Amino acid sequence: MKNYFLLLLFSVVIQKATAQFFGKGYSPYTGKDLGLTYSATSSTFKIWSPTAVAAQLLLYKEGLGGTPFKTVALAESINGTWEVKLDGEWKGNFYTFRVKIKDTWSNEVPDPYAKAVGINGKRAMVIDLYETNPPGWEKDKSPAFSKKNLATDAVIYELHIRDASIGENSCIKHKGKYLGLAEENTKNKEGLSTGLLHIKELGVTHVHLLPFFDYNSVDESLPGKVQYNWGYDPLNYNVPEGSYSTNPYDGTTRINELKTMVAAFHKHGLSVVMDVVYNHVANAASSNFEQLVPGYYFRHKKEGSFSDATACGNETASEMPMMRKFILESVLYWATEYHIDGFRFDLMGVHDIETMNLVSTELRKIKPDILLYGEGWTAGASPLPDSLRALKKNAHELKHIAVFSDDVRDGIKGSVFDIKDKGFVSGKPGMEESIKFGIVAACEHPQVDLNKVNYSKMAYAAAPWNVITYCECHDNNTLWDKLAMSCPDASKDELLKMHQLALTIVLTSQGIPFLHAGTEFLRNKNSVENSYNAGDSINAVDWHMKQKNYNVYKYVAALIKIRKEHPAFRLVNAAQIKGCIRFDEKAPAGTIVYTIDGAAVKDKWKKIFIAFNANKDFKTISLPPGRWQTAPGAGSPNKSKPGKRNLPGLGSMILYQE
Ligand code: CA
Repeated sequence: MKNYFLLLLFSVVIQKATAQFFGKGYSPYTGKDLGLTYSATSSTFKIWSPTAVAAQLLLYKEGLGGTPFKTVALAESINGTWEVKLDGEWKGNFYTFRVKIKDTWSNEVPDPYAKAVGINGKRAMVIDLYETNPPGWEKDKSPAFSKKNLATDAVIYELHIRDASIGENSCIKHKGKYLGLAEENTKNKEGLSTGLLHIKELGVTHVHLLPFFDYNSVDESLPGKVQYNWGYDPLNYNVPEGSYSTNPYDGTTRINELKTMVAAFHKHGLSVVMDVVYNHVANAASSNFEQLVPGYYFRHKKEGSFSDATACGNETASEMPMMRKFILESVLYWATEYHIDGFRFDLMGVHDIETMNLVSTELRKIKPDILLYGEGWTAGASPLPDSLRALKKNAHELKHIAVFSDDVRDGIKGSVFDIKDKGFVSGKPGMEESIKFGIVAACEHPQVDLNKVNYSKMAYAAAPWNVITYCECHDNNTLWDKLAMSCPDASKDELLKMHQLALTIVLTSQGIPFLHAGTEFLRNKNSVENSYNAGDSINAVDWHMKQKNYNVYKYVAALIKIRKEHPAFRLVNAAQIKGCIRFDEKAPAGTIVYTIDGAAVKDKWKKIFIAFNANKDFKTISLPPGRWQTAPGAGSPNKSKPGKRNLPGLGSMILYQE
């Protein structure tokens, strides 16, 4: 025993000397026990701080205010770690750490691995995770949305937790809370389903929720004051946000309520995707990362200040072993402890490819159908070379991770950065190739002229699972607002047809379709372009809109049903894309006409014919030989002479042969 401690001491001295010599090259800690290891008879606290000369644990009775009732020195251990084991029951107490670097003590911070916190995430909390489980949690199971674990079988619905229920006409009791989305059978005053039931009836497979890790921008201690934020400003990565909980002071309650919501989605066959923001923190200088290991977790400019590829003041350094380890352990924790079914990586282009592929490989070991996707871009320049980062142009290097296609998004409705710019559905000429590029999910296709695609001049996708097909998300104007602002002379009826045409393109294209909540009943945000803190009056889902635009809702639900029933819309690899999709090269300008060979992928619709007309007047298009039927719910096309059909202005056609 004595020898062991001598050896440990020797090892610590050598490592410290090495760390100081190599600067940032601190030897990483490979153990999986950073943070709190709790039992009813002891609690062990462990942090990584290789440059510290001393470290302390401070214990409090409250999550905020007061003075520590106990301060304990942590003992230095291997690979830059510090730890202390306290005997007895510590549940219900709060704690922070501070470290001494050279002669200076850091600020007190909860550790990055904290799993529970008190109000506003200022102090970590000792809890028994087992007690956070709602009844039946052990039996909670993720729905099987795909027989073969194929990401292309997913239909994603992007939603902000507060938006879903905060509107008066949601008729949901727990407004703005996790529990609001766990309420079953809620209906608006017109008797139409809202919240969970609505999402289930719409038929999507995955509910993608905007950030619900603990974020900084909403003061959780002021529940009466209306505060609003999307939540892209991370504070404690491994803890649920408190403002969505009925009691943000108690670490156990917020975890229990989030799990209750996840279980409710799962019970109704819906998978849950978590929006994660590992690319930056709310405030780098005061963050636990920077306080515990200054200079380690962030990238820097040459002169030493924080680099800022996120336009939020800092960017994390996923290529550093302990940041990489942190991201990996964090997603594994959410997937196992909270049964999360997928992750959407904010500004994924900030992260290095190696980290993203490690995350994918390890997650798929525990959940083979985990859904992974992210934004393959940044919001500014990064010092890490492009070739190493998970950018859209490097998408084919990512393993089972999709990138958002801004090509099809803006091809459909025009650039998000120029409000007057129009897209295919709003009548801009020359957008056909961008839409075709979207239809083939950015895979190679002999009939797509890449030189004419709006942004990408290369087929960046390795397969359809590599691409998220969408035309609207929480960022920028809603589809409805964008169409209305870019087409000021269009009538309401024309805007409605453009909107439906846009969603038809998204839901019939290859890749993974993605819908912004409420688009199925023409959601608008009063033309507010960036509503991240614009409050409920702009952001709340208005459930009355469902009644007002019920036909659009029914149409979108019908399209989702068609997609889910027919594998031809969910081709799985690049060879199928090339082999099964044929565009009509003689189709009139402003139209796109193509067929999918359903028989080749054992679809009972042996041949599928799809046509979009972005012109305001009808166009006569050629039908391939044979008897064609209209897809259920997809409208009734005009009949004309055999082999020809009139495609209505701003309309679409989905036909099939059995
Ligand atoms: Ca918070």
